[in-house]
Amino acid sequence: MVAEKTLMTAKGYLCLICSRSRTDLTGIKQHLQDSHMDTGVRYRCPICRNIYKTKNSFQNHISLKHREELRGMDQTKCIVYE
Ligand SMILES: [Zn+2]
Ligand SMILES: [Zn+2]
Repeated sequence: MVAEKTLMTAKGYLCLICSRSRTDLTGIKQHLQDSHMDTGVRYRCPICRNIYKTKNSFQNHISLKHREELRGMDQTKCIVYE
C-alpha cells in the first residue's frame, strides 16, 4: 500500500500523490496517513464551512483562500469527527 504511493529516491521517499518527500519510511508512512488516508477525521473550514477529508486538502484550501485571516490559527479546533 505504501509502496504503490511512494517512490524511493536518493534523498528518501517521494509521495506520488502530492510530490512531498520524507527522508525515511516511517516519515512517509506518517505523511500518507496524515495527508491521504481517510481516517474518519474531517476538517471544517471555520470561514466557509467546507469539509475536507484530509489535512492536506484542508491546509491547501486555507492557504489558497484564507491565508491572511487564519494565519496562526489553531487547526486542531477545525477537526471534526463523523
Ligand atoms: Zn503526499
Ligand atoms: Zn474556507
